Amino acid sequence: MDSQKKFSPTFSFELFPPQTPQGIEKLRLTRQQLAQFNPKFFSVTFGAGGSTRERTFETVLEIQSEKHVVAPHLSCIGSTQENIRIILEKYYEIGIRRIVALRGDLPSGMAQAGEFRYASELVAFIRKEFGSSFHIEVAAYPEYHPQARSAQADFENFKRKIETGANSAITQYFYNTEAYFHFVDSCEAAGLSIPIVPGIMPINKFSQLVRFSDTCGAEIPRWIRKKLEGYSDDSASIQAFGLDVVTDLCERLLKAGAPGLHFYTLNSANLTSIIWQRLNLKEYVQ
Ligand code: FAD
Repeated sequence: MDSQKKFSPTFSFELFPPQTPQGIEKLRLTRQQLAQFNPKFFSVTFGAGGSTRERTFETVLEIQSEKHVVAPHLSCIGSTQENIRIILEKYYEIGIRRIVALRGDLPSGMAQAGEFRYASELVAFIRKEFGSSFHIEVAAYPEYHPQARSAQADFENFKRKIETGANSAITQYFYNTEAYFHFVDSCEAAGLSIPIVPGIMPINKFSQLVRFSDTCGAEIPRWIRKKLEGYSDDSASIQAFGLDVVTDLCERLLKAGAPGLHFYTLNSANLTSIIWQRLNLKEYVQ
């Protein structure tokens, strides 16, 4: 973990583009609440295959107009180089300088046409076409990507994203700190000296967490799963226990020198704000 200690901690909040007028209104309130914590940036997800292209752009534009730093996600699977270039040009024109570059997952049933296979190809493309105009974030998987051939192959693939030009990484969420520490130590041993910011998923609903975790390969440790299961539909207890678990996780990560935290807010400020206040993170924010 030593390589991470040299970065001063940054905090960021991930949002998704809402679909309805009510969703847009709710997101404005969420942003207002989260903005008081002075995040380094808000990020906005992008549906693979371009499914949220316009909504992501509109959300990014609105956040930008509020004078917050915003980092759009951009996933390349199913896209042509021309499409990606057009999106990036639009972003550059409106002043965006930070991009979260991803492969994405095609929705089932959608054929894989397109000119990119992996996120490393997107990173290389951005560097080739736009030089150093953008700070590029990529995804990291301390518990390894579910489709990876092996842990070693996945790590080599992660390394390729850094070698082709990524500046920093945000991890998939995890509840096993050892997996993150091991991942960061492997980066250090491989000479990769970029900030690897843990992605933090507050625990809201058990069924939702299981669904996400099954898809993305993040393990819910047995003791946490058993405890959450035991609460059945007592959502107050689930949230109270979840807040203890996630606050403790964040505390251990920051104490060990993690270079920040990236919260998967799911467009809700409530749990993230409580964790923030419990951790007293204002001490870290310059
Ligand atoms: P990659 O880094 O390309 O890796 C994907 C898989 O391919 C891995 O198994 C890797 O080992 C393998 N691989 C990579 N290169 C090679 C190679 N050369 N040869 C063989 N195998 C290779 N999804 C969205 O759709 N929209 C979002 O906005 C979004 N935001 C995210 C934000 C974060 C911080 C994270 C962690 C994930 C996000 N995702 C998002 C999910 C992400 O798109 C999926 O996890 C996707 O399956 C992989 O994307 P990636 O960029 O990590 O892909």
